[in-house]
Amino acid sequence: MGRPSRIERTRLFDRLSWALDNQWLTNNGPLTREFEERVADLAGADNCVVTCNATVALQLLVHAAELTGEVIMPSMTFAATAHAVRWLGLKPVFCDIDPRTGCLDPATVAAAVTPRTSAIVGVHLWGRPCAVDALEKLAADRGLRLFFDAAHAIGCTSQGRPVGRFGDAEVFSFHATKVVNAFEGGAIVTDDSDLAQRVRSLANFGFGLQSPSAAGGTNAKMSEASAAMGLTSLDAFPEVARYNRENYELYRRELGQLPGLSLIDFDPDERQNYQYVIIEIDEQVSGLNRDLLVELLRAENVVAQRYFSPACHQLEPYRSQPEVYLPHTERLAARVVALPTGSTISREDIRRVCNIVRLAVSRGSELTARWHQHVGAGKKA
Ligand SMILES: *Cc1c(COP(=O)(O)O)cnc(C)c1O
Repeated sequence: MGRPSRIERTRLFDRLSWALDNQWLTNNGPLTREFEERVADLAGADNCVVTCNATVALQLLVHAAELTGEVIMPSMTFAATAHAVRWLGLKPVFCDIDPRTGCLDPATVAAAVTPRTSAIVGVHLWGRPCAVDALEKLAADRGLRLFFDAAHAIGCTSQGRPVGRFGDAEVFSFHATKVVNAFEGGAIVTDDSDLAQRVRSLANFGFGLQSPSAAGGTNAKMSEASAAMGLTSLDAFPEVARYNRENYELYRRELGQLPGLSLIDFDPDERQNYQYVIIEIDEQVSGLNRDLLVELLRAENVVAQRYFSPACHQLEPYRSQPEVYLPHTERLAARVVALPTGSTISREDIRRVCNIVRLAVSRGSELTARWHQHVGAGKKA
């Protein structure tokens, strides 16, 4: 699932050579600025500030917006969304998802707002955009800031509008496993130029801040080497997204008709990066246990992931919040499997993966019964 996207190596090496010849390795160099322009273009946003990773980018936003108290977010996300907020002493408040999209349900968000709430962070899960209009309206009505963790959603659209200019700001990740990668990297995109300026200063030790921040600042800059990789990966992105789409369509043909198994779908009218191929296993119907399927695939050397399972509120240090009950999140987290995709997998490999999945589903109840016997009460409990 997490193999790096294919790139043209000579382009990367040329850019790295150029940076070395130019003797400009970091601190807002030409490659970083070019990368920022291209990311802003893709996102249709006025400003882009790139960072060393997306987790720190989220923290910069929390600082720049001077958030306090509670931040509402989904639990169905990568731990980084919650950790970023908690690291700064704020409390992530987990809300349930709309089961049709896997993203924040605006109604549950509205119910979770308290006098301590300062912001909402939506997550465009697997590249499918949040209910951005409803969340924007809610944030405006309640006087809250609204940010989006768009780590999955570069190049995607919502109602034809590119992800990148929703809410007060959005954050992309360019981690090595993401569809566009800069080895490590992140970006904040926003139409709010003051916010962008503030974030840019905070990412550079707070230098140049108009009004000094209580936090001072940090070092969250992206290096020229990362920008060289990011640019080269962006060059390849249209081709990678096309290849991913064909992977997804092949999975759909191979697995679309199996009882108790569904492939998450994407709105055909929206642009997508098809970065993830996610199936949901309904054990009641297929008889097949989700964890067993992952084990079977691993035994055949297929790296499938439970993505995201457990959900954040089921993980330490959040697990001990007893009041959290998120039925849709728990149901989805118990069912998901991410299958291998990306630009370096062959169609032949995908057919092999699908053969294993089909075999497992066709004998779901039998395999699951045998697995329970073997694993025994001890481990299962
Ligand atoms: C990858 C990811 C992050 C973290 O990104 P980094 O660049 O690794 O810090 C945050 N949120 C989500 C949803 C992610 O998938």
